Amino acid sequence: MNIDRNEIIKMQEKLSNLIGCPGYEEEVAEFILSQLNDYVDRAWIDPLGNVLAIKKGTVENGMKILLDAHMDEVGFMISHIEEKGFLRITPLGGIDKRVMLGTLLQFQTDNNEKIIGIVGSHPPHITKSEERESVPEISEMFVDIGCQSREEVLAKGLHVGSVGTFYTKFEQLDDETVIGKAFDDRTACNVLLQVLKALKDVEHSHTILAVFAVQEEVGGRGATVGAFELQPTIALALENTIASDVVGVPPNKVVTSIGNGPAVTAADRSLITPKKVLNRINQAAEKDNIKTQYKMPIFGGSDGGRIAITRSGVPTGVVSVPCRYIHGPVAILKIKDIAETIKLVYNFCII
Ligand SMILES: [Zn+2]
Repeated sequence: MNIDRNEIIKMQEKLSNLIGCPGYEEEVAEFILSQLNDYVDRAWIDPLGNVLAIKKGTVENGMKILLDAHMDEVGFMISHIEEKGFLRITPLGGIDKRVMLGTLLQFQTDNNEKIIGIVGSHPPHITKSEERESVPEISEMFVDIGCQSREEVLAKGLHVGSVGTFYTKFEQLDDETVIGKAFDDRTACNVLLQVLKALKDVEHSHTILAVFAVQEEVGGRGATVGAFELQPTIALALENTIASDVVGVPPNKVVTSIGNGPAVTAADRSLITPKKVLNRINQAAEKDNIKTQYKMPIFGGSDGGRIAITRSGVPTGVVSVPCRYIHGPVAILKIKDIAETIKLVYNFCII
């Protein structure tokens, strides 16, 4: 298959800059649906907000291979608005409080306008040293959007229940390296779009099913109903996973490394990958000499765990693009890892 690196980078930028907090993935869903229509036999948005797609295979009773990638990203919901106009927030998905102070967030109004704010803190000059040395809980932090009263906040179109995410612009650092927000899991949305695009004019025996899922970060809810609807015989969840290959981390704690190719899950907290799925992934890799790495068990969960226990069970695996600093304001990854993952998933579909 042909890999178009520029297309991968362009799509990564587009998908990274879109906003899609759990439960509010419409912006991402509409964009993905607009891309998909050309590549598949049928694509639609289901009642929960998932984008589902089917591309039929040539064999009548062939396998139905489900590929899943989640559209949502970790974010925040406004939990309270202070009289003086500061926002209190609660996380949607797992967010490390240590990455919060001083970052910029963007909230969506009901009219889809973006309101930018700073995660504020008390100036060091007026805080005690114990306070400066400990990180407050996210629920104790406040977001400053420049408003001086609750009324001003409401007039801007934000209210309790409005959602937001990190405010980060995608950047390419060099030929191979990009940084941005929401790489988990827009990277896999990118992979899945590229695979479906590559399959567009290819005759393949198995039917390919796709779920661009909502609400993974709050517990795989989209994948649960997507897999139920599409009834796959085998599935792959595509992810963007923890790379902990940074200075000071011993080798037995390196979950994955960037630049080392697609990461294959043997088990995570939600799933133990059946041998036959691992074998198929290995065959797919051997076909083009794709270098893969095992993701260290058993970190993180995934949509794969939900898909695996759909109906009477679906043999399911997880393949991930390794990425440093996921679930933070900005993450970093290597384009070649995306390219190799696309090849691997494509081969998984056609072998
Ligand atoms: Zn994810």
